[in-house]
Amino acid sequence: MSTLLEVSGISVTFDGFRAINNLSFQIGPAELRAIIGPNGAGKTTFMDIVTGKTRPDEGRVIWGERSISLLKLSEAQIARAGIGRKFQRPTVFEDQSVTENLLLALKASRNPLAALLWKPKAADMDRVQALATQVGLLDALPRKAGELSHGQKQWLEIGMLLAQEPRLLLVDEPAAGMTLAEREQTTALLVDLAKTRAVVVVEHDMEFVRRLNCRVTVLHEGAVLAEGSLDHVTKNQDVIDVYLGR
Ligand code: ADP
Repeated sequence: MSTLLEVSGISVTFDGFRAINNLSFQIGPAELRAIIGPNGAGKTTFMDIVTGKTRPDEGRVIWGERSISLLKLSEAQIARAGIGRKFQRPTVFEDQSVTENLLLALKASRNPLAALLWKPKAADMDRVQALATQVGLLDALPRKAGELSHGQKQWLEIGMLLAQEPRLLLVDEPAAGMTLAEREQTTALLVDLAKTRAVVVVEHDMEFVRRLNCRVTVLHEGAVLAEGSLDHVTKNQDVIDVYLGR
């Protein structure tokens, strides 16, 4: 299988504390992956490195067919190269409609000068409809984002990220605070998205990870402790010890 993102041997030290310790990670171009691990395992720092927010002290982060080093790119360049990140709290424009939010996201996906001159055309409205359909919000297009449920806001934000056509989507705890029905819809959405791009989900909720039914990477003390199906990693004695605090 080909590799979209290859992280090898990265380490980060904060004030003498090694938050990431010789971590390597690979993901393919159409793969769904869950990253789990106890608090402080390094999950957030790992995503910060991939998105250019934090620079590793050592190691390589290689992207795409042309094997570009992401360590040479700024955060904005990495986003434009095709890496989108969804934080846990949705940051949608509450007093704007779902349509307006998606249009703003389309506008933001242009370069700054093009965005300044941009006026939505019929093709952009088609794209808004397609994005809304993809994230299950077609009926909600005229509604203000502030009136949406928590789950719908999360899907809207995913739709806004999709406007940038990311080839890798990093999603932080998507199921947190969702109802059971919303979780099921979110599972279906993430599985669907991973058919045409790489999706990395950082998640604490093991029931949700089970539903994703994907390869799982377990982080501990800034390194990969185990990798494989959820059943495989939860039988690993090191993983059991870490989770039971032994
Ligand atoms: P996780 O997301 O798995 O909970 P983090 O990546 O947030 O873990 O943190 C890994 C470790 O690095 C933690 O011990 C955390 O306290 C430490 N850490 C993270 N960011 C910083 C920072 N900016 N300065 C100092 N320590 C940090």
